[in-house]
Amino acid sequence: MNRFIILFYQIIHHIDEGYDPQVLTQIFEMKMLSVLGLYPTMDRCAICGQPEGRFDFSAYTNGIVCHRCFERDKYRLHLTEKSVKLLRLFYIFQLDRLGNIDVKQETKDEIQRAIDTYYEQYSGLYLKSKKFLNNMKNWDDVLKDRPKKEDGD
Ligand SMILES: [Zn+2]
Repeated sequence: MNRFIILFYQIIHHIDEGYDPQVLTQIFEMKMLSVLGLYPTMDRCAICGQPEGRFDFSAYTNGIVCHRCFERDKYRLHLTEKSVKLLRLFYIFQLDRLGNIDVKQETKDEIQRAIDTYYEQYSGLYLKSKKFLNNMKNWDDVLKDRPKKEDGD
C-alpha cells in the first residue's frame, strides 16, 4: 500500500497549494486504478492497438477506442476529445510534475461520468475477486485479533 500513501500525500499537498480539488480527486481516482489492479489501456486503442487517431473512452472495452473502432464498441461513452485527453493525462503523468490545470466545469463533469462508469463496471469484479476477500480477511485479523503486548519484556 506504499504507493497509495505516496499518492494520497501528493494529492493532499497539492490541494493545500490551491490546485482544483475536483481535478486532483479525478487524478487520484485514475491513479488508484493500478493500485487496485485495474489497467485500462490508455496509450493506444484498446481494440486495434493504433496509437494515433481520435479517441473515445470505454469502460466496456477497458480503455480508449480509436475512431476506426467506434463501431465495434456500442458502449463507448461518447466523450469530447478534450475529456479523453485529460483522462489519459491523469492516468499517465507524474503527479510531482503537476502544472496549473485549468479545466472547465463541463469537462470535469464529463470526466467524472467516465470515471464513475469505470469504477461501477469494475468494482463489482474487484469485490468478487479472491484477492480482495483475502485482503478483507487480513484486515479482519488486524482489527480484531491484534496481538496484545505482553507485559514486561
Ligand atoms: Zn482502434
